[in-house]
Amino acid sequence: MENAINIKNDFGRIQNWIGGELQSSSANQYENIYSPYTGEVIGEYPIGTAGDVDQATVAAKKAFPAWKNTNIKNRVQVMFRFKDLIEKNLAELSNLVAMENGKTLAEAEGGIMKGVECLEYACALPNKIAGEFQEVSGGITCQMIREPLGVVSSITPANFPFMVPMWTVPLAITAGNTMVLKPSEQVPLSALRMGELLQEAGLPDGVFNVVNGSVDIVEGICDHPDIEAISFVGSSKVAKLVYTRGSGNGKQVLALGGAKNHLVCMPDANLEYAPEQIVNSAIGCAGQRCMAASLMVAVGDCGQVIDQMVAYAKTVKVGQEQGAILNKTSVGRIESYINQAEEMGAKIAVDGRNAKPENYLDGSENGYWVGATILDNVTLEMPAAHDEIFGPVLSIVHVDTLEEAVAIENKSPYGNGASIFTCSGAPADYFAEHASSGMIGVNIGVPVPREPFSFGGWNDSRFGTGDITGEDGVFFWTKNKKVTKKWVNPNNPDWMS
Ligand code: NAD
Repeated sequence: MENAINIKNDFGRIQNWIGGELQSSSANQYENIYSPYTGEVIGEYPIGTAGDVDQATVAAKKAFPAWKNTNIKNRVQVMFRFKDLIEKNLAELSNLVAMENGKTLAEAEGGIMKGVECLEYACALPNKIAGEFQEVSGGITCQMIREPLGVVSSITPANFPFMVPMWTVPLAITAGNTMVLKPSEQVPLSALRMGELLQEAGLPDGVFNVVNGSVDIVEGICDHPDIEAISFVGSSKVAKLVYTRGSGNGKQVLALGGAKNHLVCMPDANLEYAPEQIVNSAIGCAGQRCMAASLMVAVGDCGQVIDQMVAYAKTVKVGQEQGAILNKTSVGRIESYINQAEEMGAKIAVDGRNAKPENYLDGSENGYWVGATILDNVTLEMPAAHDEIFGPVLSIVHVDTLEEAVAIENKSPYGNGASIFTCSGAPADYFAEHASSGMIGVNIGVPVPREPFSFGGWNDSRFGTGDITGEDGVFFWTKNKKVTKKWVNPNNPDWMS
């Protein structure tokens, strides 16, 4: 089959990337890594310990002074070469991401290229941190300089193995920090490849390190005295834990959490465009993205839009058109939300339970699949209406007015993305003004801002302040130093003059 992903299953025991080389983990326990496409074991990840975090931090700390003192133009040159290498190796990287995460090859490539956009932003850093300079009073100058923090850490989730690290790694490193990255244990392969490519791009050893494992590694990062800042992306429950523990230890922490994104459909939504966009928002990346539409609030008569959504969703085949679910446990969780909604009276307009790919890949019948699912006539009491399902399931509730739709969105504890589909300006403006989410879409199902507009949600989708990319990212990974100077002028000794 053309364009099928190539599953390699000989990764063996996954190591760490420390000081510019692969190093064995201190773990004495390993767990299987499965490819979601076939359910086969492709390697084993270590249950690493705080000792591994320390080893990586020591390497990062050693590398920091020389890297900080490397001229920013030279730091940026490494990033230009890194971008070149990513583009040259795009097919291999996309295959790796698809294999370990379950995305389609096209989705894997799209995520990597979004990461490249963040890398391009990092390449513009010299323009962003030129600083400020002013003669603040006679003969007195004040200069503001942005300095790196030191050793910093990024903890990333399973759903975007390459892209989410690209939100943090290029910017943090280009700003002069050294990094300990902790990828999700479910998808450790892409991050290790990132280490090799950065080295090939000329990054000095020890500037970028990868430590594999799960809870012990995260706790080790939160507690390590030499780590200055932590960026976390994952579920809200863990985001809150990391935020509390890391900031309790005096670190700067930004922890992005989960989501339940609302999508309001007005009766005048464009019939040519809206139905596919809405469905694709919910089922793209098999619904395993923090910007997926999860609850559609249909205002008034949206019957035609819904009929077309249903017709389209029924044509989407798992395998090449819609990727796999991260793991077996997630399949069970997603199906139980569908079962429960059905038992509570929802109409299963499109049923993705028991979906299997047809003739896609040898062994894919053993992979982890849930097809596109649309639940209609959902009520707000149903867990499907308010929990993050993290699967290709769109629930639809019906209301009479836009005000009611906004009230439902506002009640959600999350606040990542929210969208409206309409052909009229006034409801769109009302929604953009009143929705309680950090990223708003008008006729855009997945309203991820393009750089330089930064990425970040509100409420329980974020603990800490600011966004993770763009200018807020620059602020997060640097600290201000203000230098006030006077060269004594014998003719004017009064420095306040
Ligand atoms: P997760 O919270 O299970 O894992 C994220 C990271 O935390 C991983 O590296 C994992 O090893 C670690 N971890 C897991 N449990 C832990 C614990 N008890 N203590 C300490 N560390 C722990 O999330 P996931 O399943 O990998 O990713 C999916 C979640 O991430 C979804 O909720 C999704 O919405 C969210 N997400 C959010 C954004 C965003 O920008 N807001 C982006 C991507 C994903």
